[in-house]
Amino acid sequence: HRVAGKKAFITGAAGGLGAAIARMLARHGALVFLTDIDEAGVRAVGEAINAEHGRTVAWTAQQNVRDEERWQSVLAEADAAMGGLSVLVNNAGIGALGGVESLTPKEWARVMGVNVDAVYLGCKYALPLLKQHQPASIINISSLAAFKVFPDYTVYNASKAAVASLTKSVAVDCASQQVDVRCNSIHPAFIRTGIVEPFFEQLGEQEAVRKLTRGIPLKRLGEVDDVAYAALYLASDESRYITAAELRVDGGASAV
Ligand code: NAD
Repeated sequence: HRVAGKKAFITGAAGGLGAAIARMLARHGALVFLTDIDEAGVRAVGEAINAEHGRTVAWTAQQNVRDEERWQSVLAEADAAMGGLSVLVNNAGIGALGGVESLTPKEWARVMGVNVDAVYLGCKYALPLLKQHQPASIINISSLAAFKVFPDYTVYNASKAAVASLTKSVAVDCASQQVDVRCNSIHPAFIRTGIVEPFFEQLGEQEAVRKLTRGIPLKRLGEVDDVAYAALYLASDESRYITAAELRVDGGASAV
């Protein structure tokens, strides 16, 4: 059990990467608290995890990560349910098409709100709890887009670069306070989840796979568990000397 005794909080866990990370951490011994704006969706994921384990290892709650007050109340709920908090996974995120001219300021603020402001809020309000359960770990889900911009995806690219930078500030601040809370970002390339589905709808299956795998040395899309295994490592004490890292889970895409 690589994360036995860990108590993990995961946002955006109604599907895609968040649900896969929750399943993976629970399978390896963690207690997990899942939230999403989609209440029914996240409840179903939590129930499936509990059914798999035959006992309660997962709790769920509705949370819009943009809501500052909700961050405080939901973290208190998680702390009470699990008896502490030692892992935070800031996973919730949204995409938006648009170049710098076509993008409206409202759309810019909406995407930055979910992808960046919410990660800041999560770190800010979870840190006091994480400090009580050292060694602790914060995992922020960024993207390949932090290194290589996706065309016509301006605000998303900027938001994911901001997440990578914020991650390093949190990591260095904790280290300088001599607090054993590590903070790292994960950078997936393309995985077929809700956020990538519009490309499949727009281009059709074959063309979408062709386009999305074009710059990937390993010549395939990622799978949700490729990211979940990375999160498992960063959540566990196996990664105890890893902080402020940008872990690429991209089939080599950022190298070429
Ligand atoms: P997804 O759309 O399947 O999952 C995102 C989840 O976040 C959804 O369940 C959604 O309901 C939730 N969410 C959206 N807005 C929210 C809000 N305001 N408050 C709370 N929850 C909210 O997509 P995914 O691929 O699983 O995305 C997870 C993360 O991975 C995102 O941060 C995304 O940017 C990142 N990512 C995904 C890929 C990929 O190819 N799928 C690649 C790189 C990074």
